[in-house]
Amino acid sequence: MSRRTTHLLKGALSTMYYLGIHRAMAPITQGVGLIFMLHHVKPEGVEEFEPNRILKITPEFLETVIEQVQEAGVDVVSLDEVHWRLSEGYFDRPFAAFTFDDGYRDNAEYAYPVFKKHKLPFTIYVPTEFADGNGDLWWLALEKVLRDTDRISVNMGGTNRKFNCSTPGEKDATFHQIYWWLRGEKESDARNWVRELCRGIGFDPSVLSDELVMQWNEIRELAEDPLVTIGAHTKGHYALAKLSLSEARLEVEGSFDRIERELGVRPQHFSYPYGCERTAGPRDFSLLKELGVKTAVTTRKGVLFAEHVDHMTALPRVSLNGDYQNSRYISVLMSGAPFALMNRFRHVNAG
Ligand SMILES: [Zn+2]
Repeated sequence: MSRRTTHLLKGALSTMYYLGIHRAMAPITQGVGLIFMLHHVKPEGVEEFEPNRILKITPEFLETVIEQVQEAGVDVVSLDEVHWRLSEGYFDRPFAAFTFDDGYRDNAEYAYPVFKKHKLPFTIYVPTEFADGNGDLWWLALEKVLRDTDRISVNMGGTNRKFNCSTPGEKDATFHQIYWWLRGEKESDARNWVRELCRGIGFDPSVLSDELVMQWNEIRELAEDPLVTIGAHTKGHYALAKLSLSEARLEVEGSFDRIERELGVRPQHFSYPYGCERTAGPRDFSLLKELGVKTAVTTRKGVLFAEHVDHMTALPRVSLNGDYQNSRYISVLMSGAPFALMNRFRHVNAG
C-alpha cells in the first residue's frame, strides 16, 4: 500500500470510529466474514526509518485483535472452514480467518503461541524458494541500503535521478519513490537492480532471508499442529500478472509440488504475491481455479459476501497493518464500512 493510501485510510478509519459511521453502515457492509492478512509479528518497536513497518504488528496487538473478534461473536476459523461456509451458504455466525504471507520465522516464534493459547487456527503461505533458503526479500534489502546510505543516484527510465537520504524523512521519501518505481518494472530487472545496490555497499542480501525466513524443518514442525494450514505463495514470490501464462503456471504448480514433497500434503490454499490489481488479475484467478485450489487470496481490500462463492480464487482480505495497531480501528475494519466505500458498495471486486 502506498504511503498516501495508508494516510488516507488511517484518517478515514479514525473519522468513522469517532462519528460511529461504521456502526450505522454495518448491517449493509459487514458481509458474512473476513480474512485478515498479516506478515511479521514481533515485539520490538519501530525504528525511525523503517518503511516496511506496516508489515509488522506486535504479539500483544495480535492478541487484542483475536479477543476483540471473539467478543464480537465472530468465529475464528481455518481456510477449509471459510471454503465450506461459503460453499454451503452457512452464515449463521460471522467468521474470520487469520493468514500470514511469506513464512517468516517470527510467525512461529511470536504468533503461533498466541493462536495455540487460544486454540485457534491460522494459515501461513510459503514461497517455496524462500523455504529452500533462497528468499529474495528485495523490499527489505532496499530498506537496508537506504539506511546505510546518505546519497543515492538512480537511473529511472533513462533519467538520472539523485536523492539525498541523510535524514529519516529523506530516506522514507526516497524509499517510496524507488519502491513504487521498481514495482512498475519487470520484476527480475528490479531485483537485479536492488542486488546491484547491495553489492555497492558490500551487503549480502541473502543474510535477510537466512535471518528472517523459516526453512522446511521449521515449517514441517509447525504443520504437524492441526491448527496450522500451510498454503502456497508461488516458488519465487514473483507478481504473477507480470509473467507469461506458462511462467505463472510453473511458479504456482512448482510451489504445490514442492510443498507436497516436503510436507506430504498438496496445498489447497494460495496467496498471490503482492496481490493487488496490477499483480494478480482475472487470468491468474482462472489459473488457480483450474489448478483446483479451494481458496486463493489477494491483497484487494474487503470483507467476504455470499457472492464470493463464485470467486473463491479472488478473495479479498483485511490487512492488519502495523500503522493501525489500535483496537478502535479493528471494529471499523470489521464493519466492512471502509471497504464498502472503496469498492463503491460492490460486493465483489475481481475484475
Ligand atoms: Zn508475499
